[in-house]
Amino acid sequence: MSDVTRRSFLAAAPAAGLATAVAGKPALLGGQPVRTQRFPAWPVFDRKEEQGLVETLRSGHWFRGNGQTVKRFEEAYAKVMGAKYCLGTSSGTGALQTSLAALGVGPGDEVILPPYTFTATLNVILNLYALPVFVDSDPETFQIDARKIAPAITERTAAILPVHYSGNVADLDTIMAAAGERNLPVVEDACQSHLAEWRGRKAGTYGATGCFSFQASKNVNCGEGGAIVTNNEELFEKCFAYHWNGGGRRTARYNFTDSIHGAKFLMTEFQAAILLAQMTRMEDLAQTREQNALYLTSLLKEIPGILPLRRYDGCTRGAYLSYKLRYKKEQFAGLPRAKFLKAMAAEGIPAGSGYTPLNKKQYLKNCLKSKGYHLIYPKDVLARWEERNQCPANDRLCEEAAGFTQNLLLGPRSDMDQIAAAVLKIQAHAAELARA
Ligand SMILES: *Cc1c(COP(=O)(O)O)cnc(C)c1O
Repeated sequence: MSDVTRRSFLAAAPAAGLATAVAGKPALLGGQPVRTQRFPAWPVFDRKEEQGLVETLRSGHWFRGNGQTVKRFEEAYAKVMGAKYCLGTSSGTGALQTSLAALGVGPGDEVILPPYTFTATLNVILNLYALPVFVDSDPETFQIDARKIAPAITERTAAILPVHYSGNVADLDTIMAAAGERNLPVVEDACQSHLAEWRGRKAGTYGATGCFSFQASKNVNCGEGGAIVTNNEELFEKCFAYHWNGGGRRTARYNFTDSIHGAKFLMTEFQAAILLAQMTRMEDLAQTREQNALYLTSLLKEIPGILPLRRYDGCTRGAYLSYKLRYKKEQFAGLPRAKFLKAMAAEGIPAGSGYTPLNKKQYLKNCLKSKGYHLIYPKDVLARWEERNQCPANDRLCEEAAGFTQNLLLGPRSDMDQIAAAVLKIQAHAAELARA
C-alpha cells in the first residue's frame, strides 16, 4: 500500500486508535495485540430452542412418523426458499446422496464437481460408485469455473454438482446453460449458502434439487441436519422414498412404495424443533454477516496482496459461511501464509487457510483402485480419468487461500476495522516477521 492509500484508508477508518494500532509492534514479536475481546460466540440460541426441545421431548413424538415438527420445518423452509417442496434430512451429506440417487446416478456415471469444497461433495459420488470429474476453480471467486463445465461433459455425464462456496454463489447462468444443452440435472450443493441469491432468487432453487446442511458450523444450525428443496413433485417423492429405506408414500400422482431401494437419512423431531427456532433469526444474522463482509471487503481490497473473494455480478446476495481471500506473500516481504495466519491470531484475529486439493486426496486414489471401481470401469477409462484430473488453478488457490469463520462477521462494524488494522500492521512489519 502506498503512503497515500494508507493515509486515505486510515482517514476513512472510523475506529479510534487504528493508526496507533498499525504503527505498533506485531503481537507475535511481543507488541500489543490489535484486539483482546472475543468475537461473537457460535451457536446463537435462546429460550426458543430450549422450549422447542422440551416440548418435543414431552410430546413423546420424537420421529417424523408420529410427530408434526419435521413437517412444520419443511413447510417453513420451502416458503423461505421460494421452493415448492422441502425434505428434511439427517445431514447435508444425506441430502446430497439422496438427490443423486433419486436422479438415478450410479455405477458407470460421471458427475461434475468443483475441487474447492468440503469432502462430502465428493463422498456422495463415490458412495454411489460414480466417477467424480473435477472442473477447475475460478480463483477470483473460489467457485467452480463454470466456463470449463461444457468441455468436461461426456456421454457418461449424469449430473452436475456445483457448490456455492462460502455462501456465495457459483455462476448459475453458465452452469444452467451447460446443463440445459445436454438436458443434464443439476444438484446444487447449497450446504454453505442459506439465503444466498442469484439474480434475486434463492441459491438452491435453480437445479433439480438444492441441498442444505444444518451441521454445527453452518449458518443455520441444529448440530446435524440437512434439507433438499425442489420444485419437482416426482423427484421430491423419489427423494422421500430413498431417504426412508425406499419406503415411499402413496400420493395422488406418485407411488414409489416397494419400487426403489434407499438408505436412512431421516431428520428427527428434535432437529426440526431447533431449526424452527433458528429460523426466527436467520434473516437478521444473514444481514449482519453480509453488511460486515461487504464493508470488510471495501477495506481489504485496498491492501496490496490481499484479494478478497470476488462475487459474480449475478450473486445478488451472499450468505458468508466464511470470509475468504487470497494472500499474496510477495506483497508481504515473502512472509509465508502460515506465519501470516499465526501473526493474525496473535493480533486477536483467528484466521484459517482453507481446503487442500480434493482431487488429489489419497482416499480418492484408494477408492478408484478398489475392487468395486475396477469391476465397473475398464482400465483405460480409469487411466484417462487420471490424465484428466488436473486442476492447476485450484492447486494455486489452495496455497493462497485464507479466511475467517462466519462468527467474526456477527459483531459491530468496528470489528471489521480491527481485522483490517491487523492485516495492515502485519504488512508494515512483514520483513521483520519473516526474519523472526
Ligand atoms: C457441510 C457441507 C456438506 C455436508 O453437510 P453435513 O451436514 O456436514 O453432512 C456438504 N457440502 C458442503 C459444501 C458443505 O459445506
